[in-house]
Amino acid sequence: MRARSVLGTLIIASLVGSVAPSFSAPAPKAGAACKKVGVTQTYKSKVFTCKKSGKKLVWSKGKAIKQAAPIPVATPSPTPTTSDSPSPSPSPSASPTPTSSPTPTPSPSPTIVGAAQALQQFKDAIIQGTRCDVKKDLDRFALGLDRYKNPSYVRCLNNGFWEAVPAPAIPTEYQPRVNLSDFNSITYPWKTPCDRDPWVPTQWREYEQFALKYFGCSRPFRFVDVSLPSTKPSTALTPTSQLQPISVCKLPNKNVKNVRGNYHNIGHDGRWKFTGDFAIQVVPVQFTDFKAANSPKEEYGKYLDYMKEMFFKISDGNSRIEMRVPDAYIQVNAALESFDTGQTFAKNNKFSWKKLDTPRYQNAIFTAADPSINFTGIDLTIILVPLSVPDNYIGHGGGFRMDFVRTNEGVIQSNYIMPPANANSDNDWYGVEPFLHLHEMFHATGLLSDHLGDWEIGGDFYGTGFWGHMSGMLTDFIAWDKWLAGMMLDSQIICGSSTATGTYWIKPATYFGKHEKLLVIPLSETKAIAIESQRAGGMNFKLTKESEGALLYTVDVMDTRYDGGFEVIKPKNRTSSTLEGPFIFWDAPMKLNESIEIWGYRITVVEAGAFGDVVKVEKI
Ligand SMILES: [Zn+2]
Repeated sequence: MRARSVLGTLIIASLVGSVAPSFSAPAPKAGAACKKVGVTQTYKSKVFTCKKSGKKLVWSKGKAIKQAAPIPVATPSPTPTTSDSPSPSPSPSASPTPTSSPTPTPSPSPTIVGAAQALQQFKDAIIQGTRCDVKKDLDRFALGLDRYKNPSYVRCLNNGFWEAVPAPAIPTEYQPRVNLSDFNSITYPWKTPCDRDPWVPTQWREYEQFALKYFGCSRPFRFVDVSLPSTKPSTALTPTSQLQPISVCKLPNKNVKNVRGNYHNIGHDGRWKFTGDFAIQVVPVQFTDFKAANSPKEEYGKYLDYMKEMFFKISDGNSRIEMRVPDAYIQVNAALESFDTGQTFAKNNKFSWKKLDTPRYQNAIFTAADPSINFTGIDLTIILVPLSVPDNYIGHGGGFRMDFVRTNEGVIQSNYIMPPANANSDNDWYGVEPFLHLHEMFHATGLLSDHLGDWEIGGDFYGTGFWGHMSGMLTDFIAWDKWLAGMMLDSQIICGSSTATGTYWIKPATYFGKHEKLLVIPLSETKAIAIESQRAGGMNFKLTKESEGALLYTVDVMDTRYDGGFEVIKPKNRTSSTLEGPFIFWDAPMKLNESIEIWGYRITVVEAGAFGDVVKVEKI
């Protein structure tokens, strides 16, 4: 994983754009003159098209846009005392369409709900500063909330955000559908997954400032527990008796063609998994030249707690780590400097470290640790050095690994060499960023790696984009990877039919619980289509509406490109370039009634809600 300054640039670019409020432009009016035939303009929930009428170019009467979701939208009706209407009134010659009359949606009754359900409901209420869909909602007014959580009108501006605007008085009956006192824990102020988290846990508050300054991103430091709502989809679903046995959906990893040291795991194999109850042995070591000022728990406790807590939560409780941490650093009777070969090794033309003599270093560490540590039942260790170790010592990369280490209690297969967690400069990235350590666990164990599609590796091919922790490192692991690693159980996979039309309910991947979260349509022993449901929540709590929906990717274990095999597919109507937006493929998830045709199948979202997505799969 590399730090990406490009993302910061993209975010800035997307924000600079056009910030002039669109409502200063002349509104289209039916029959009024327009300039270019075919041009459309959206105004007050209607699309006006510039048409030729005789020799003149005039605006059409406007076509009402259907609202996609039952959002509490109030059509801004002019107050009765005002005689001149600000809305585009059809000219007498144009026949008014009945649908154009403003139909105020009845305000929902102000029911008080708990924080868990409130996240979704709050988002439905539209808050100032959240993203809007310019193509669909440009200039649309809605009742929402301003930054101070007061009821307000918001309007979708052409900069892509809902902004509070001066408007007619708020109807007195309007009340947001959530308990305002809950907002302190659930308010939704994010536009990108890198945005600052106002509710960052105390122990990460200072680090977040550092991360924003040096890495341009505040990655998730907490898990927002959103529970599956009690509402269920009404669409008739394919009965479970018509699903295929899970074995059909497990593409064997033996078919992976390994090229150029490509050891990524994309199919299933019988090796050790990151699942169930298992112990990680922490091996904290100090040296004659670099000693610890505090105990391992005092220096690294929050990192170890974070790994344990987050793996438990993102795995629906399937990955339960027992973190064995010695009370004190173990003394290695040598100077760290004595392992320095005098050479250096580098990564991405950015990071450079002293090249240590790994076999001698490993031998010294485990010789010192073996007498006091019982390695029985340990599959994975984390090797820690004191915070006093400078950041150019403990390198990161293939050149500095310890695999299959011998101890008195047997061989330890995987060992994670963690750099010191200091916050001095961007050179500290590999030690100090907590979210990164979740990713590195899978390089250390060799269970997962999906870097094809990261900026420099794939060229124009973007793989999963920034979906999934193993590529891009902004969002939670994709469900397929969780399944491979054992974080998701077989019982959470819907193995759909490859031949008959099926309709399946996929629960949100980000909500805690052992729900069915991944639909797999297997095509062969080497290819499958995978679909999961993305909703704001869990570690993806900063997803905006545009990033919610059914995320589809293809899986091909025969893809011989380095770290290849996955490709996120966007619906055809996404016209934005791949590099636009807050992250690569941010708008890929399918919304209600959208479909994707791929590999001879058509996949359509037929129902969507806080409960997830219902998708129909047809062979075409
Ligand atoms: Zn990586």
